[in-house]
Amino acid sequence: MLMTFFFYLAKSNCDISSLMKNNIIKGSCDFKFALSSLDQIKNFRNEFISSSDKPKGIAILGRSNVGKSSLINALFGKGTARISKTPGRTREVIIFKFQTTINENKSAFFLFDLPGYGHAKVSKAMLSDWQKIMDLFLRLFSDKLLFLLIQDARHPNMEADQQLINYLKNSGMDAFLVLNKIDKLKTQKEKNELKKMIPTLSKKYKMCRQIYFVSAESKSGLELLEESILAILSEN
Ligand code: GDP
Repeated sequence: MLMTFFFYLAKSNCDISSLMKNNIIKGSCDFKFALSSLDQIKNFRNEFISSSDKPKGIAILGRSNVGKSSLINALFGKGTARISKTPGRTREVIIFKFQTTINENKSAFFLFDLPGYGHAKVSKAMLSDWQKIMDLFLRLFSDKLLFLLIQDARHPNMEADQQLINYLKNSGMDAFLVLNKIDKLKTQKEKNELKKMIPTLSKKYKMCRQIYFVSAESKSGLELLEESILAILSEN
């Protein structure tokens, strides 16, 4: 894990995008559905996915304000996440479809923008709605998706993140832990603090294949993240 951190630092200054064979086609990500009830999620599963064919793709999960929308825009093209920010959409599963080039072939995958968690003012009823949606979502879709668990690199593993990982750890899902906003770590002291946390994060998030250090703002680390996402999608 520590190696990834240094690998990222070494790579962040060089543009390797021109060398990449596999890529997410920017601007190809189209909004398909916003699902807010258990029935809608079940219907989507029944109507759009045949029983042998589960949706392949990515699901984005994180506390509000960690930069989920900014990362979606950075990875899929500017303006993609606008729909997820529409007032009232915050408790919905937003579904997009995007195109990739993998080994010179075009493929289509789903992107699921899942409702955020850890809002300070959420009522018990809303929390229980979130859990019902997540329980169903995981049951129906988790085995063909790569989950990106997004956290803020300045405050990783907060209480709400710990609750989430306890909830997910036996789900058998495939996941990456993505620590965003690393551009905000300006001083050596702040960078060292994050480095010191890596062993703890590796242990607590051992269900995650890897930890990535990125910035949606400066784009640092995103080439490596995109490459790794495509490597997993091409496996399935
Ligand atoms: P979401 O609620 O998780 O979708 O978070 P947003 O994408 O809306 O981002 C929340 C705030 O963090 C916005 O003001 C973004 O501009 C900012 N932000 C997101 N990613 C980064 C980043 O990598 N670096 C910095 N400095 N700010 C970021």
